[in-house]
Amino acid sequence: MLNPFSSLSRHYRRLLVYPLLSVFMAVSLVVATPQVSQGIPLFEIFLRGIQIIQLSSISDNQEVQLGKQINQQLVRREIRLNRNEQINRYVEQIGEQLAKVSERTEIPYTFQVVDNDSVNAFATMGGFVYVNTGLIKEADNEAELASVMAHEIAHIVGRHALNQMKQMAIANGVAAVAGLDRNVAIQLGVELALRRPNSRKDELEADRIGLENLTQAGYAPYGMVSFMEKLLKSGGSVPEFLSTHPATPQRINALEQAINPNTAYVGDGLDEIAYQNQIRPLLRK
Ligand code: ZN
Repeated sequence: MLNPFSSLSRHYRRLLVYPLLSVFMAVSLVVATPQVSQGIPLFEIFLRGIQIIQLSSISDNQEVQLGKQINQQLVRREIRLNRNEQINRYVEQIGEQLAKVSERTEIPYTFQVVDNDSVNAFATMGGFVYVNTGLIKEADNEAELASVMAHEIAHIVGRHALNQMKQMAIANGVAAVAGLDRNVAIQLGVELALRRPNSRKDELEADRIGLENLTQAGYAPYGMVSFMEKLLKSGGSVPEFLSTHPATPQRINALEQAINPNTAYVGDGLDEIAYQNQIRPLLRK
């Protein structure tokens, strides 16, 4: 027969070891996360850890509020909006058509036209999408323009800007960005929207989600490929939209594989004359 005391003591030992283990693990997690910054008191590191968690669990409502403030800053200091009514109505209508069948319909979307001749589009958190007049003019048809907008919406669906902000905060040891220091968060958001390229992984995801969105909204899926190919072939300087969006040939490849050749040209938005009529105010300039 086994000694009942030995099994009892084993039992107690186990009871003691588990809580101790979990305390060790919790402490090493807290210390390990912001290890990039040296010489910071443990208490502060602990606080920073908490703030990073807050940024990653931000609610839709908080994200929209933050997006609004980033947008305000962009419009006030960084970009000039195009105010032509016909163009704005047209871009909004395309955007709404896409947004309502996107994978994230719980937040409002805002589509704005930027008066800038470079071929570019970008987005920030909380539903804000921007398209340059240069890109609208470069597109041959509505499906091509819609494909870029669907790609930008997909960055919002995938919460890419939020994740980038979180990573930057950790890498720079400025984790106070994580929701508490609102001004730093807004500046970081402006920087991300205008000057920081997305990762290759985020780009491929945005293409994939965007292509689905484009097709769901009734557009011919090939618009996404034809626009990228056009920009690649145009030679000369690489358009901004592609230079900040890396690995274009691979992206085209991935898209071509994702599109069923039988239905590539099935859908709306391929009429070039109709498109030119819609964007005429820009062509007159
Ligand atoms: Zn992108």
